[in-house]
Amino acid sequence: MIDLHSHTTASDGTFSPPQLVDEAKRAGVHILGITDHDTFSGFDQAVAPAREAGLELVCGIELSTKLHGHSVHLLGYFLNTFVKPDGLDVFRMWIRDLQASRRERNVRLVARLRELGLDITMEEAEARGGGMTGRPHFARLLVEKGYVSSMQQAFDEYLDESAKGYVTRREPQFAEAVEHIRDAGGIASLAHPVRLPEDLASILAELRAAGLDAIEAYHSDHSSSQTALYLELAAQHGLLVTGGSDFHGAAKPEIQLGTGRGGNLQIPDDLVARFRARLRAS
Ligand code: AMP
Ligand code: FE
Ligand code: FE
Ligand code: ZN
Repeated sequence: MIDLHSHTTASDGTFSPPQLVDEAKRAGVHILGITDHDTFSGFDQAVAPAREAGLELVCGIELSTKLHGHSVHLLGYFLNTFVKPDGLDVFRMWIRDLQASRRERNVRLVARLRELGLDITMEEAEARGGGMTGRPHFARLLVEKGYVSSMQQAFDEYLDESAKGYVTRREPQFAEAVEHIRDAGGIASLAHPVRLPEDLASILAELRAAGLDAIEAYHSDHSSSQTALYLELAAQHGLLVTGGSDFHGAAKPEIQLGTGRGGNLQIPDDLVARFRARLRAS
């Protein structure tokens, strides 16, 4: 089994990197992609335990980008054989800027939530999020303080783009993020296309022109007919496909590593081999 989309405690997952490696072994996943939001630190910490466990680890990342004014998630995969010399160092420097923009947004988010009468502090949020504190950690804090009864309610009432507590964050444009991933020798894949606010078929040519390599056809949020559609669109546009559960541990308890939501995921074992074949050819 293979799973190319998962999160650790380095972003908004609840499994530490070594715990995620254990979970992969337990679940029968033999190729695991770690795709924390805006950071490689979970991947870095999983390298030694994965080697010990005999698990093939794929270095990945999930970036929040702007496309036509909406927030769109983009996955980057860095297969060590293809990473350019110094490519990842440059990329790591670039994501440090993204991390700074998140911290700066968090300062304004605390101020906004306090303005709305919520007694919360940055220290409390960071106690839950560590170096990569994001809106899911604020949501958890609002639940713990009893202001809302669920993470979803926290987003609906305060944190979602359409909610009263929302503050903007500087996010890179989609095409800029694709370029940074590719400049480092990575593969850029559109995450969970089902969440796009626009019709994928109508914008795919533009995304392809921006350098997109792949789309995440297999994802826990996709029905089998959606997956079939994404596979067809990928084939039409000459794009590769990726797939993963988007495992977040107890933060999304209904999703299992490797198998998704109630076993709805069946990711072909040869996805990474297909990347390698494509990259060797290009
Ligand atoms: P941030 O990068 O800190 O702005 O947080 C973005 C993360 O919050 C996303 O990756 C999602 O996991 C989560 N998120 C954003 N909007 C919602 C929503 N409406 N409901 C639930 N989770 C959301
Ligand atoms: Fe997440
Ligand atoms: Fe995502
Ligand atoms: Zn994700």
